[in-house]
Amino acid sequence: MLSLAVDITYFVTAFVFIYGLKQMSSPVTARGGIVNAGIAMVAATLITFGVPQIHLALDINMILMLSAIAVGSAVAYISAKRVAMTDMPQMIAMYNGMGGGAAAAIAAVELVKLSSSGESHGLVVQVLAVLGAVIGAVSFSGSGIAFAKLQGLMKKTLRLPMHQFINLGLFAAVCVFGYLIATGHPVSFDHVIWFFILAVVLGVMVTLPIGGADMPVVISLFNALTGLAVAFEGFVLNNAAMIIAGTVVGSSGTLLTQLMAKAMNRSLANVLFSSFGSDGGAAAEEDIEGSMKEIQAQDAAIMMAYADNVIIIPGYGMAVAQAQHKLKELEDLLESRGVSVKYAIHPVAGRMPGHMNVLLAEAGVEYDKIHDLDEINPQFPQADVALVIGANDVVNPVARSNPDSPIYGMPILDADKAQNTIVIKRGQGAGFSGIENHLFYADNTRMLYGDGQKAVGELIAGVKQL
Ligand code: NDP
Repeated sequence: MLSLAVDITYFVTAFVFIYGLKQMSSPVTARGGIVNAGIAMVAATLITFGVPQIHLALDINMILMLSAIAVGSAVAYISAKRVAMTDMPQMIAMYNGMGGGAAAAIAAVELVKLSSSGESHGLVVQVLAVLGAVIGAVSFSGSGIAFAKLQGLMKKTLRLPMHQFINLGLFAAVCVFGYLIATGHPVSFDHVIWFFILAVVLGVMVTLPIGGADMPVVISLFNALTGLAVAFEGFVLNNAAMIIAGTVVGSSGTLLTQLMAKAMNRSLANVLFSSFGSDGGAAAEEDIEGSMKEIQAQDAAIMMAYADNVIIIPGYGMAVAQAQHKLKELEDLLESRGVSVKYAIHPVAGRMPGHMNVLLAEAGVEYDKIHDLDEINPQFPQADVALVIGANDVVNPVARSNPDSPIYGMPILDADKAQNTIVIKRGQGAGFSGIENHLFYADNTRMLYGDGQKAVGELIAGVKQL
């Protein structure tokens, strides 16, 4: 009876996971999607105590499980409450690494059990355990490195001599030990230990040379891999919830990884092996004509207040400055004067997909004012002012003009085609790709220097004085 209740709950929660994911595809319903998926996860976790293999007694196993759930929930709750939006990618990397580590730990327990009992689970189950183990272990250590890089705890890239050959050797060794374990009867304990050590080292070595700008894509890839590892371990434990949740994470993560790579006009292989965005700067720069021309906030305010159409382009710097609330205030003020205001969002603006959408939604900007690249680009020539705030790479025209540029081919927002462009940034800081931006030197571009929030505050004060 209890096991029927477990199956039915798993089925319903699987449905809610997928429905929640569907809701997350629109900003209007995304919050509800997160809540629904969260409720489903809590239900799936609680009903797992009804799985027949679990003894419902307060023995050492039960105490360990309850303690792990209590500690994990407390740490996750506190860190999620405190994290700044700009630190979100590294938090996702850390949680993701934990997921991969958990999948690898499950596989380790199963494989060590096999080695000590001398029994066999059969080839298929042992192959799945090995696959889940290697993917989980690589994702665990790789995500750890991604976290350390994004948190600034380590140098952005590190490439050893013959790095890819070493990786190839490590991969081959992991395959050999994986094969021995999958076909082993009995499984050798030593093989299991070496297998895990090599898989963890492989995760570190694969991630070390990847450039900082590509980290979010890599995190998304590890996220997909973690899902896959969990699904494999679900087969090993015969647990439907793990199989379904893992498959959903794996497939949606794969799609997200592809979308991110495509929005940067990069192939996944290029992301993994090119060290793009590394400290050395992959910038292939050409001579830039013109000079940067500064504008004062009062003059910029006049330009915007007497415009018919204004398009605001937020980027990573807006997130750093937390300028979204001030932007909304400026939008309201301009609209009260009859100015039409729209927002243009590039798919990789900021440091994670949807970064800008989340911040603007938090500030109360209406969804129908937020436009994506394909929708807004034809409207730039009619815009009197394009206000670029803390965006750089996503408005760099070199992506259209210089085939040698590392961002060549990336679709950009056509801010340079507006009648006038005002760029808010603090100084001469480059974008994440580390290259110069030709837009800043254009005849119709004016630079408004300062922190994003402060500069928009000055624009508001300027418009109010008119
Ligand atoms: P960029 O990182 O290109 O540029 C940000 C700019 O903001 C900098 O030039 C900086 O200049 C300015 N800035 C920083 N802090 C402030 C502040 N407090 N106030 C005002 N300005 C500030 O940002 P974009 O959003 O244009 O581009 C995102 C980049 O990240 C792209 O290269 C993209 O490929 C990459 N990326 C994004 C992913 C995603 O999912 N969104 C995933 C992977 C990569 P200054 O220091 O002078 O102020």
